[in-house]
Amino acid sequence: MDFSFTTEQDLLRESVRRFMKAECTREYVRQCSDHDRFPEELYQKMARQGWMAIPFPEEYGGLGLGPIELAIFLEEAGYGWYGAGSSYFTSVVLGGYNILLSGTEDQKKKYIPGIAAGELKVAFGLSEPNVGSDAASVELFAEDHGDHFVLNGQKMFTTNAHVADYIVTVTRTIRRPEKKHHGITLFLVDARSPGIEIRPLKQLGRTATHTNEVFFRDVVVPREQMMGTLHDGWNTLTQGLGVERLSVAMMYAGTSQAIIDYVMQYAKERRQFGQSISKFQAVQHKFADMQMQAHIARLMGYHVAWHLAEDKPCFKEMSMAKLWASEALFDIANNGVQIMGGYGVLKDYDMEMYFRDSRIGMIGAGASEIQKTIIAKQMGL
Ligand SMILES: Cc1cc2nc3c(=O)[nH]c(=O)nc-3n(C[C@H](O)[C@H](O)[C@H](O)COP(=O)(O)OP(=O)(O)OC[C@H]3O[C@@H](n4cnc5c(N)ncnc54)[C@H](O)[C@@H]3O)c2cc1C
Repeated sequence: MDFSFTTEQDLLRESVRRFMKAECTREYVRQCSDHDRFPEELYQKMARQGWMAIPFPEEYGGLGLGPIELAIFLEEAGYGWYGAGSSYFTSVVLGGYNILLSGTEDQKKKYIPGIAAGELKVAFGLSEPNVGSDAASVELFAEDHGDHFVLNGQKMFTTNAHVADYIVTVTRTIRRPEKKHHGITLFLVDARSPGIEIRPLKQLGRTATHTNEVFFRDVVVPREQMMGTLHDGWNTLTQGLGVERLSVAMMYAGTSQAIIDYVMQYAKERRQFGQSISKFQAVQHKFADMQMQAHIARLMGYHVAWHLAEDKPCFKEMSMAKLWASEALFDIANNGVQIMGGYGVLKDYDMEMYFRDSRIGMIGAGASEIQKTIIAKQMGL
């Protein structure tokens, strides 16, 4: 067993950490978060570093690196600021990676180089007003007209649709299939197509990369924008959802550590009863618990990345990693507020933002209850 990283992987980590420290300044983060503003400048700078290309094969303009490098990048992005990780993750993983898994050869050649260069942004539309955890019940209908399809319906919670060039859109192509997983087809839809309306949603946290409602009214989509096989989109979609779980788990592991480091600094400086509050055993024990939770999140994430790199099945492990990392993050943020007392809820400190941002992890990318159901099913129950 070998838990070490290669020299190249260590270098990647160091350069991402250095970059995030320089770019995700408190002023910049607040400027974006407080005004629901997409971090376009940061996104372009990440692209110039070549990091959007990490998970893609060289033939599509990628760096040809693997899941471990993707995990390293996302852990460090999550440490720097969720906005870095989330803007990257939506376009590169939910968008680009799904094109890699489900797209035709022509689509891969046409779109992945642009995503890898940061020139194209992609969003992912699966959830709908009536379709959340029960994702296979997708209703947005794509009617087959031979050389094109006509899409009607609504997507909900589509992260970054407001800045996207394309939306990977999950549609129903058979109205009443015998099994709901059948008759699902994916399309890569131009976000500026006539008939598409995008309305931003206001949310508790992660406001810089917020969600949107997307309305489709008689949207004409050329047949060549269909991804994969007609009616059979569910299978490749679930492979993409697995990588989604690893990605968010690594971001959450990074943010968990960032919160611990931030609160530790505060606890060392804050004095009560004539000493620093970090000297109280009750506070120290909280930190010990938080550090263990973050460490386990990290180990579980890299365990999944290793499985993927070795092409080993890890469906259960992906759900376990996502579940643990998202719940650990919220617990750590909650304890962080407690350790900082009243200052933990003041807008002048980062803790209140960490707390708000961390709540969403247990819902997005499959709620905790659904991850538990998947884990139990994988256990044979
Ligand atoms: C910030 C954010 C970003 C998002 N980004 C995207 C995106 O880019 N693209 C996209 O398509 N979607 C996105 N989503 C949607 C996300 O995937 C859904 O919110 C999630 O799948 C849960 O669906 P829901 O919110 O409709 O809740 P529901 O499915 O209505 O669930 C409500 C509650 O019921 C529980 N529940 C439901 N079914 C069961 C069951 N069988 N057993 C036990 N409990 C159950 C759930 O666990 C949950 O606690 C995003 C969501 C958020 C909050």
